[in-house]
Amino acid sequence: MEFGPDGKICSFCGVIGTSRTKFAGGLGALICTDCVDKYHAILSSPSTRRKLERPWWDVMSDEEMLETLPKIARTAEQVDDFMHEWVQVLRSRKLSYNDIGRVLGVSRQAVWERFSRPLKEAPVDQAKSSANGSS
Ligand SMILES: [Zn+2]
Repeated sequence: MEFGPDGKICSFCGVIGTSRTKFAGGLGALICTDCVDKYHAILSSPSTRRKLERPWWDVMSDEEMLETLPKIARTAEQVDDFMHEWVQVLRSRKLSYNDIGRVLGVSRQAVWERFSRPLKEAPVDQAKSSANGSS
């Protein structure tokens, strides 16, 4: 599983990580130290905490909203990559696609189709995946 910050993005501001970037994170979402400091300051006082009581996009221009969309897409991709890596770790621990499907609420076959191939590879065709499925 990839642990370094290079190429990762902050799920809060969209900054792209370098070898010197520090991220905290979990469940595929990451936060950079600047955002940790910013949100710590906001959450530390009742007056600034009120900033979080209304949606942050209420004060964004249409252009800012558009510029945010690819960052959201990249965050979703990062979370999906993390999920794939997590499943690979589970598989290396000899947990079955059936075990993984049970906790995700989907079939073993659905897990296999989604996670058995390396990241960034084209989707497997349905007939081929049925013939090659394994637990
Ligand atoms: Zn950030």
